[in-house]
Amino acid sequence: MPTTPRCEHCDEPMPITARRHARFCKPACRAAAHRAARAIPAELTARPRWVRRTARKVPVTVGGDVASSTDPASWSTYRDAAKSTAGAGLGFVLNGDGVVCLDLDHCLDHEGAIAGWARNMLDAVNGSTWVEVSQGGDGLHVWGFGALPHGRRITVGGGSVELYGTGRYIAVTGRTFGGTPQRLGDLQHVIDSVV
Ligand SMILES: [Zn+2]
Repeated sequence: MPTTPRCEHCDEPMPITARRHARFCKPACRAAAHRAARAIPAELTARPRWVRRTARKVPVTVGGDVASSTDPASWSTYRDAAKSTAGAGLGFVLNGDGVVCLDLDHCLDHEGAIAGWARNMLDAVNGSTWVEVSQGGDGLHVWGFGALPHGRRITVGGGSVELYGTGRYIAVTGRTFGGTPQRLGDLQHVIDSVV
C-alpha cells in the first residue's frame, strides 16, 4: 500500500497540489533543507555510505530498492543520495570504521527545551562535535568518533541513550543543534563514561 508522501524537511503530508515526486511542501522547506545539507560535516559526506529512507525509516537505495545496513552494494555516495528522490530522506550507515552516533531519544520538548540527563551528556561532549536534531524533532544525534563494537541502549538519569557504531543506519536530518561545530570530534570519553 503506498504511504502518503511527506515533505522531506517538515515531515508534514504533501499538499494534494504538489507535483509527483516533489520533495518539499513549500519553498521555505526547500530552502531549509538546502541549508541543512550544507551543515552535514565532511567526515560524513566524504564516506560513500549513504542510503535513502522511507517515512517509516526503512532504508532504501538511491533507486528505491530495499537497502541493508550490512550490504555495501546498497549504499551510495552522499552526492547521489542527496540527489535521489527515493523514500523520504537521507540515512548514513555505520560500519565500524570509528564513526559513531549517540541517539538521545525524546530529550527535547516542543519548545526545544532539553531534558537534564541530555544536557549532562552534552556538557560532557563540550561542544567538540556535531549534534543534529532528529527527524521527529524531539531527539538529538551526537555524531563523532569512538570504539563501539556493539550497539547499546543505556538508561541515564531518566532518559535513554542508544549508542551505535556498526551494522545500523541512522536517519540524518542535517538540522544542526545549537552552535555545535560542523565536524566530528572524539567521543570516546563520553562512551566510556556511560557504557
Ligand atoms: Zn515542509
